[in-house]
Amino acid sequence: MSDVIKLMPDSLANQIAAGEVIQRPASVIKELVENSVDAGATKITVNVKDAGRTLIQVIDNGCGMSVTDARMSFERHATSKITKTDDLFCIYTKGFRGEALASIAAVAEVELKTRRAEDPIGTDVIINGSNFVSQTPVNTPAGTNFAIKSLFYNVPARRKFLKSNSTELQHIITEFQRIVLTHPMIEFMLYHNDAMIYSLPKSNLKQRIINVLGKNLNSMLIPVEIDTSIVKVTGYTGKPSSSKRRNDKQYFFVNNRYMKSAYFNKAVVLAYDKLTLPDCLPPYFLYFEVDPRSIDVNVHPTKTEINFENASEIFHLLQAGIKETLSKSDVTPAIDFENQEIKDIPYFPSDSPMPEEPQIDYDPNYNPFISTEKPKDFEPKRPKNPTFFDTTTPRERHNAQNWQRLHDEPQALTDTPSAAPPMLQLHGKYIVCPTPNGIMFIDQHRAHTRILYEKYLRQIDSNADAVQQLLYPQELDLDVTQSAMAHDIRDELQSVGYDITIHDDGKAILTGIPPYMEQNKATEILYRIIDSYRNEHGNISSSIKDILAQAAARGEAVTAGHALSKEEMQQLKDDLMSSSSPNYTPDGNPTTVMLTWDDIEKKFN
Ligand code: ADP
Ligand code: MG
Repeated sequence: MSDVIKLMPDSLANQIAAGEVIQRPASVIKELVENSVDAGATKITVNVKDAGRTLIQVIDNGCGMSVTDARMSFERHATSKITKTDDLFCIYTKGFRGEALASIAAVAEVELKTRRAEDPIGTDVIINGSNFVSQTPVNTPAGTNFAIKSLFYNVPARRKFLKSNSTELQHIITEFQRIVLTHPMIEFMLYHNDAMIYSLPKSNLKQRIINVLGKNLNSMLIPVEIDTSIVKVTGYTGKPSSSKRRNDKQYFFVNNRYMKSAYFNKAVVLAYDKLTLPDCLPPYFLYFEVDPRSIDVNVHPTKTEINFENASEIFHLLQAGIKETLSKSDVTPAIDFENQEIKDIPYFPSDSPMPEEPQIDYDPNYNPFISTEKPKDFEPKRPKNPTFFDTTTPRERHNAQNWQRLHDEPQALTDTPSAAPPMLQLHGKYIVCPTPNGIMFIDQHRAHTRILYEKYLRQIDSNADAVQQLLYPQELDLDVTQSAMAHDIRDELQSVGYDITIHDDGKAILTGIPPYMEQNKATEILYRIIDSYRNEHGNISSSIKDILAQAAARGEAVTAGHALSKEEMQQLKDDLMSSSSPNYTPDGNPTTVMLTWDDIEKKFN
């Protein structure tokens, strides 16, 4: 039998490699723009058509290539950036594997026009699906101009795998943002279907961050400077008051390359402990500089997780450094439960009877486990502070008395109370109620979210397809991507009551809203639906109905820091218990924590 092993043709090897490096239009943009940065460009323009399906063009004014290099650059492992293995561990440029261009050329029609400043005439190379088509002289400005057409034309499986244009565009913008945030000294432009998305002049870092992510960050950013022998961290972190539940402006970079790191994010979260609401994070833009030899550089080309030799030291330095930065800048805590005024926002919706004024109901002489008579109302002057076990002297005395009583009559612990036990609101956040089995803690915000969520789901179902037509149609404030997203999910939005018309110029007009909702709230929720669609990159895992109900519920649920009256607490507890899943919020977080008598007794052993 003859030998069977053959070398794969280069074109096939490149196509396979492309599968790793080039997953979608955004990956092409990343590779090309990084090459332009490495080429020393001071101005880089990106033109995209149909979210990159039809055309991706990157034009720079960098060093350009010679006639030979232009041809060579498409060869696999062709790179001008690395010559010996030592270099591999000291990489400061973006590229080094020399496979990006070969991979792109394997799965698209590519035209490269390039000229070095010193050459009188440039060169034009055309390659389709790894096949060399032509190379001719051309008049072209100094620098490089790559045009990638019909991406994945010869890999139908990949092409099919692409998501909607709005999703692909979102990936492109995300990738673009990560690069421009590391190169404020370079001017960048991004166009989609000839509409300008970004025009970013050369600037300092702070100005670049603001230009990319919005003016409202201007007054929010605190400069960070942590200088140690292991790591140097510079950049900006947000004031606690700028923190949001939606985590979308948190960036880490290492040696000027974007990285994802849930681990270091945790360090920042810890630094903000108690300064923000739980689950909320401020924006941050943190640039690490480390010895390149102390990180794993030979990473997968599209991988954004990076391994650090000194990860745990950096974690602690980062946490301490951010904490110190915050304490030095005169940021007042956004949410300080201990000093917060009680807000007069009732838990009950406005159409239900108003409850009594919020107050803490507590009778020092009442023991739920031994007494059957109706508790006397104890009405202290309305406290400034919703925290119950506070350090004021009278209360301490009452508590002590009550503890004393419990200790006097321990047998009462096993009794079932025959009167409704009192509930306490602790820390402005938890409702604490004794139950026959122990003590239950209810997170008031989460519990209310669960209740409202179910209420909204019922409302949506019973009003299926009903629309409240607006007397005055409202123009929505959506950017290019958002309006493309809205277009994508038009039908789903319609099914829950939103009527939206999107014009060719991207203008989105709202003409109808869900019938049971007030207009401002309906629009606010609509923005949130579009955002969650965007955040999930078009893979909406839950239905629009669900998102609508969740968004409506979350926005309306009573928050931490709101004092609740006795009736409100009781009502909240009853409503929660009669909901279909009392133990969890719609997104799966626990609403209650139970401390059983057993648990408590164990603690005393
Ligand atoms: P790498 O960036 O890893 O070296 P690429 O395949 O991305 O590999 O690029 C191959 C080579 O082509 C680069 O090393 C560089 O010499 C050249 N090159 C690519 N893009 C540009 C550009 N915009 N300007 C000048 N040279 C470029
Ligand atoms: Mg490269």
